[in-house]
Amino acid sequence: MKHSLENISEESCNGCGACYQKCPKQCIRMVENDRGFLIPQIGDGCVSCGLCVAVCPEKKNSYSQNEVIEVWAAADIKKENLKESTSGGVFALLAGQILSQNGVVFGCTWNEDFHIKHIKVTQKDDLLSIQKSKYIQSNTADTFKEVQDLLKNNVPVLYSGTGCQIAGLKSYLGKDFDSLYTVEVACHGVPAPGLFIRYIDWLEKKYNTKIVNYTFRNKVKHKKGEHYTFAFEDMTGRKFYKYSNEDPFYAAFLKGKTLRDTCYHCKYKGAGHTGDILLCDFWGIEKAHPDFDAKYGASAVLIYSDKGKHLFKDIPDTAIRKKKSQYETVVACNSSIIKSTDANCKMKYSLNEGNLVERMIPQKSIKNVVKNHIPEWLKYRIIKKM
Ligand SMILES: Cc1cc2nc3c(=O)[nH]c(=O)nc-3n(C[C@H](O)[C@H](O)[C@H](O)COP(=O)(O)OP(=O)(O)OC[C@H]3O[C@@H](n4cnc5c(N)ncnc54)[C@H](O)[C@@H]3O)c2cc1C
Repeated sequence: MKHSLENISEESCNGCGACYQKCPKQCIRMVENDRGFLIPQIGDGCVSCGLCVAVCPEKKNSYSQNEVIEVWAAADIKKENLKESTSGGVFALLAGQILSQNGVVFGCTWNEDFHIKHIKVTQKDDLLSIQKSKYIQSNTADTFKEVQDLLKNNVPVLYSGTGCQIAGLKSYLGKDFDSLYTVEVACHGVPAPGLFIRYIDWLEKKYNTKIVNYTFRNKVKHKKGEHYTFAFEDMTGRKFYKYSNEDPFYAAFLKGKTLRDTCYHCKYKGAGHTGDILLCDFWGIEKAHPDFDAKYGASAVLIYSDKGKHLFKDIPDTAIRKKKSQYETVVACNSSIIKSTDANCKMKYSLNEGNLVERMIPQKSIKNVVKNHIPEWLKYRIIKKM
């Protein structure tokens, strides 16, 4: 018997997991391919019902939420909260609203071995575990099923993730629910979780230690500046601060070399965004809104639905700084909102290569050396003056 999922090629699967979660016979497993991404594989028991293909968002037209209805520059009022977030900390403020209504928030976390997946959070104290961007593809695991059960009981739910994950969730649910809020994070593509584990092994060998903490955007002051360097910590509490453009994993990600195949022709761009709210870095804010203090990060908040508008509006003024902005202003400095990474950037690799991480080490460039040695406060002032 021909398995229905054979109609979906590895190159056209975005890894959202909707098919795995929908299968009534539970015979689909998500398995790692040779680039380290999870892909669905059908095991015994398939009755060719076709539900896996029917639920695939890549086979559907679009989940876009009409036009952008409002655009804001925003940031959490408290500096200590901003330091726990990648951009302006708006995700945590939105999530706080849902939790205060006894709702449930879904987002992405990783465990002590850096295995990444989506989880649910019901308490404010646990929000920290799903804050901050992890630049690898998260496993949605069984969260779509959990969301459906909660929505059936009228529990308010906020689901956050990349555009393709929210498309997968909406396709899985098959209908709109008043109590579902979706927060999409802007995304220029996701590297493979399997590749990240390889890289962590490489770092541990290089520094002869066990890494227990990793953050893709460090906002803690140290001699190398405080922004756009990443940081990790070992089991003894030793902290390492590194430049992203000199690191094999991070530089490859920034250059779009190691993304999932579908990221190079992502449907969830421009008019295809899937969330009620889209959160991005507000690049260029120093020029667009010079009076907005963005030293510790600022979010661009793009609102696509009335539901999203109310959720954002209800954040108390005592918790948020915000200023109205324009779609064109945000997009001018953030192309990931409207277009995919160029497929020519893709690097061919297999996890089996012995020297894989070494092969990703970027060549030193004078531009990067200069850039890395200008203190952050000076960079910020120069950009503001320009
Ligand atoms: C893979 C990836 C690529 C990105 N690329 C861009 C970009 O090119 N341009 C840009 O402007 N912004 C990008 N972002 C979004 C940006 O980094 C921030 O996540 C966003 O601005 C929200 O910031 P915040 O301060 O409000 O909240 P934060 O606390 O920083 O963000 C946390 C939110 O991100 C979600 N999240 C974290 N990691 C993942 C993951 N691996 N998969 C799915 N969801 C995740 C969490 O569930 C939570 O909702 C990217 C994010 C990711 C995860």
